[in-house]
Amino acid sequence: MHDVLIIGAGPAGLTAARSLREAGVKDILVVERTPTPGGLPRFAGHLGWGMLDRQRLWTGPVYARKLAEAAGVPIMTDTTVTALLPGGGVMLSTRHGMEERRAKRVLLATGIREMPRSARLLSGSRPWGVMSTGAFQELVMAGGVVPFRRPVVLGTELVSFSALLTARHGKIKPVAMIEEAPRITARQPADLLTRTLLGVPVLTGTRLLRIEGKERVTGVVVERGGREEHISCDGVIVSGKFVPEAALLRVSHLAVDQATGGPAIDNFGRCSDPAFFASGNLRRPVEHSGAVALEARRTAGFIHQSLAGALPEAPLAIAPGGKLRWVTPQRASPVGETLRFEARAERAKRGMLRVLADGKVVQEKPVSALPERRITIEVPCRRLRAARQIEVRLD
Ligand SMILES: Cc1cc2nc3c(=O)[nH]c(=O)nc-3n(C[C@H](O)[C@H](O)[C@H](O)COP(=O)(O)OP(=O)(O)OC[C@H]3O[C@@H](n4cnc5c(N)ncnc54)[C@H](O)[C@@H]3O)c2cc1C
Repeated sequence: MHDVLIIGAGPAGLTAARSLREAGVKDILVVERTPTPGGLPRFAGHLGWGMLDRQRLWTGPVYARKLAEAAGVPIMTDTTVTALLPGGGVMLSTRHGMEERRAKRVLLATGIREMPRSARLLSGSRPWGVMSTGAFQELVMAGGVVPFRRPVVLGTELVSFSALLTARHGKIKPVAMIEEAPRITARQPADLLTRTLLGVPVLTGTRLLRIEGKERVTGVVVERGGREEHISCDGVIVSGKFVPEAALLRVSHLAVDQATGGPAIDNFGRCSDPAFFASGNLRRPVEHSGAVALEARRTAGFIHQSLAGALPEAPLAIAPGGKLRWVTPQRASPVGETLRFEARAERAKRGMLRVLADGKVVQEKPVSALPERRITIEVPCRRLRAARQIEVRLD
C-alpha cells in the first residue's frame, strides 16, 4: 500500500509529489501514461514557463524536466491508469500487463484535452491537415515534423497564441487567426502583438463555415459581416475549447460535476470518495501552469492533513447561478479565514459576482468577465457558518 499514488506527471502531479515529499510523506508513486514525465509543457518550446511557481523563465521542455527532477519520487512511465477502485485502488496497464495498486490517498492530475473537430461539428470535407494545438505542438517539437506551411488558427484563447509561437519555431506562417466572438478570448494586447510582431491577421467576428480540400486542406470558407469569404490555406489548427481529461472518472464511482466536466470536489480538492483528491486542469478547463502548480501545492497540504485524519467534512453544497457556466469547488467546509470560489462566465459580461448563503447575499463585487477568463471571489467563513446552501452567481 502506497501512502499517495499520483495519476499524471504534469505540472500538477509533479508539484504535488514534491510538496508531499517535502512534507515528509514517504511512499509516493507517480504514474504517467506517456514515456516522458512533464505533461503538456514538454511540447511548448516557447518561453514563459515557471515564472509564478519557480520564479524562473523557462521553455516548456526545460520546465517539464525541472519539475520531474524536483519531484524526487519514483515515476512509472508508459503506464496508464485504466480504472479507479473505491477506497483508493487503481488498475494500471503497464508494459508487463495489468496490475492493481492501492494507496491511502490517490491524487487525480490527468489534465485536459482539446475538443476535437468532430465534437465541434465543423463541416466540410475531411482532408489531412486539421489538428489540435496539442497535436501540432507534439509533431513540431517532438517529431520535428512540419505538417503544413500556411494554416489558419481557429480560436483566440491563450493557447492559440502558444500555437503561433510553435509555428514560428517550425518556420510555419499562419495566414490568419479566426474568432467568432467580436473580440479575442485572451487578454487584449495579444492580438496587437500577433499582428505587429508575427504578422498574422486576427479576424474577429468571423465564423468558420467549412473546411475544403480532398486529400489535403486547400482552404476554409468563413462568414464575415454577413458575407462568405474563401481563405486559401494548407492546414487548420483547432485550438482551445478544452475539456477535463475525465475518461477515467466517467466510468468510476466518483461524482462528476456536469458543469466543469471534472470531478465534484470540496475546497480541499477532495472527491466524493475521500480517498481521492484532484488537482490541476482536470478540475476545470483551463488554467496556466503557474496557477496549477500553486494549487497543487495547496492540495498536497490537504492530502497531508487528510493522511493525519485532520481534514473536516465538507457538507455545504455550492451551485452556479445567473450567467455563470460553472463554479468550483462544488462542496465546502467553512473553516479557516475565508472560502475562495473560482468561476467562469457563459459569455463576455460586466456585472456583479455574488455569493448567496441560503438565498441571502453575503459577498459581492463588480467583475468584467470573459468566457475563458478566471473570476474569483472570497468570502469570510464566519458569514457562511450557519448556511446550508451556497449559490455563486453573476447578474
Ligand atoms: C497547447 C497548449 C499551450 C499551452 N501554453 C501554455 C503556456 O505557454 N504557459 C502556461 O503556463 N500554460 C500553458 N498551457 C497550459 C498548461 O499546459 C497547463 O496549465 C498545465 O500543463 C496543466 O498541468 P496538469 O498537470 O493539470 O495537466 P497536464 O500537463 O495535461 O498533465 C497531465 C498528465 O497526465 C497524464 N495522464 C492523463 N491520463 C492519464 C492516465 N489515465 N494514466 C496515466 N497518466 C495519465 C498525461 O499524459 C499528462 O502527462 C498550455 C496548454 C496547451 C494545451
